[in-house]
Amino acid sequence: MESTIPQTLDALVKLQTIDSKVDEIIKVRGALPEEVGDLEDELAGYITRVEKYNQDLTDLNQEISDKKNSMKDSSNLIQKYEEQQNNVRNNREFDALTKEVELQSLEIQISEKRIKEAEEKIESKKVEIEETDGIRSERQKDLDTKKDELKILSSESEEEEAKLKKDRERAVKKVEERLYNSYEKLRSNARNRLAVVSVKRAACGGCFAIVPPQRQVEIKEKKKLIVCEHCGRILANVDAVIEVEKKPKRTPRKKKA
Ligand SMILES: [Zn+2]
Repeated sequence: MESTIPQTLDALVKLQTIDSKVDEIIKVRGALPEEVGDLEDELAGYITRVEKYNQDLTDLNQEISDKKNSMKDSSNLIQKYEEQQNNVRNNREFDALTKEVELQSLEIQISEKRIKEAEEKIESKKVEIEETDGIRSERQKDLDTKKDELKILSSESEEEEAKLKKDRERAVKKVEERLYNSYEKLRSNARNRLAVVSVKRAACGGCFAIVPPQRQVEIKEKKKLIVCEHCGRILANVDAVIEVEKKPKRTPRKKKA
């Protein structure tokens, strides 16, 4: 089921018209989809950060509880050693126990220091969590607003887009794969996203290079695909110039001074 040249050209023009409409819809949405994506990433980052802070809090609390337990152990040992000191046989034993008591007291001091440090860390983590949550809820508001905007814009064009998508599929089927690929390539390379254009006022509608009359005749004949020699765009039609000339250019002379 091969398409004839006029059919192919017809399909290409349709394809271009559809794609230009879709471009326009996307343009209206502007940077919104990207902004929404960026905000979502940013928010995910805050959530991960707060999760990490919370894990840090758990670890610090665990550390405090461990230190408290070891302090209790040290206290018990001190008590035990002091009791033993009442039953020593000589000074050497007494002194040895005193050393043990000193050692455990030192352990307690170290633990107290560590607990204090951990408590300070907990306080600063809590501040960081609060700050991050603050930023997060601000950004969440931004995200909600942008999502709403996008939703409104999308719903406005939803029907049209669905129709364009169907029309596009139909048009694509009528274009040979190789040609379709070059169409896509042309479009992605062109700043105005036009791959199929008409000759307008004897010039290529894409790059405005002059199209010689003989080529214009060939384009009109539709016996083969003709591309612009300058930009490579497919020249599908030659727009009638009459329309432009129809406009009354002359202003009534009488009114002129
Ligand atoms: Zn051109």
